[in-house]
Amino acid sequence: MNLFELDSTYIAGTYKRFPLEIVSGHGSLVRDPEGREYIDMGSGIAVTSFGIADEEWMKAVEEQIHKVQHMSNLYYTEPCIRLAEALCRKTGMSRVFFSNSGAEANECAIKAARKWASEHRGPECSTVVTLENSFHGRTLTTLSATGQAHYHELYQPLTPGFAHFPAGDLNALKALCAGGRVAAVLIECIQGEGGVVTMDPAFAAELEAYRKENDILRMVDEVQTGNGRTGRMYAYEHYGLHPDVVSTAKGLAGGLPLGATLLSDRVKDVFSYGDHGSTFGGNPVACAAALSVVRRLTDDFLREVEEKGQLLRGCFEGASGIESVSGMGLMLGLKTVKPAAEVVAECMRNGVLCLTAKDRVRLLPALNIPAELLRRAAEVIRAAAAI
Ligand code: PLP
Repeated sequence: MNLFELDSTYIAGTYKRFPLEIVSGHGSLVRDPEGREYIDMGSGIAVTSFGIADEEWMKAVEEQIHKVQHMSNLYYTEPCIRLAEALCRKTGMSRVFFSNSGAEANECAIKAARKWASEHRGPECSTVVTLENSFHGRTLTTLSATGQAHYHELYQPLTPGFAHFPAGDLNALKALCAGGRVAAVLIECIQGEGGVVTMDPAFAAELEAYRKENDILRMVDEVQTGNGRTGRMYAYEHYGLHPDVVSTAKGLAGGLPLGATLLSDRVKDVFSYGDHGSTFGGNPVACAAALSVVRRLTDDFLREVEEKGQLLRGCFEGASGIESVSGMGLMLGLKTVKPAAEVVAECMRNGVLCLTAKDRVRLLPALNIPAELLRRAAEVIRAAAAI
């Protein structure tokens, strides 16, 4: 059997893979077994923040592997503590809980909200409200938080205590909150899986004001938008929001599994001994990798991400077959006249790997992708989308 046949025989059939094996890479170029090179405009769905086989990242991982690859959370290890400190210093948040994925980071956020609200406002106050068209993960509880009915169909009964409202409709949120049972609102500033849909700044300001009048926690899911992706450390900074809880993962450790839930001063003491935990959460190798990523997300570097995002956006605005460009920084969505999947398949044939999100072509290149590669990729994508 060849590799594709072995995959379909032995791997659970949850992924519709492209007919392409990647064996190696460097930076934003990846190679198939025949040595053919592709420009990677997806970075493992916003994970390899500094591309493939980045020297600094590899050095950090290698050094830590030679020291200690894992200890239980019953003992102190330095990388997770240093990383928590770095994240808090960069964001003004107060404490961090580490896990292994975006879904787990959101699970922790939801637990934090329920526990905090129960203690401060009463046990009936347990509902977490999210936006329609949102995506918050694949565990049963984060699926329940996800505001897309088609993800719910196969897995009834879902976790109770979630409600959804359309972005922009503050009255709908007020109606949900009227019963006094809402603990928190969880939002994405840009809905990634939802089709790279950017939140309206006016609505963000309304949400901020509404939160101030109420005791509802505001939580931001920065799993996809976080860690420099949009040209800021976290996308909520574009909107001047002050979240109580932030969840993140994906690009945080640049290619190793790591989730983080950041707790503001208001909620920093929500968890006590035994309230939550994770065997691998805060793993020293993943945290050393993340430190090598986070330390490089300086203001100057983030400005470059923003500039590259503008460069990339400029390549598509007004181009043939491209109706609109959404997103921020290096998280862009292209609404194409041709079906997005067709455009992505044509790009792959021509040496550029892109993603789809709903009806859009989604671009999430490494944050350090050279401008020259961005231009080359954009040329291929424009040609594929042209009508
Ligand atoms: N939240 C958002 C906004 C995401 O985009 C994703 C994954 O795409 C998740 C949560 C779930 O992350 P993970 O797949 O690491 O569990």
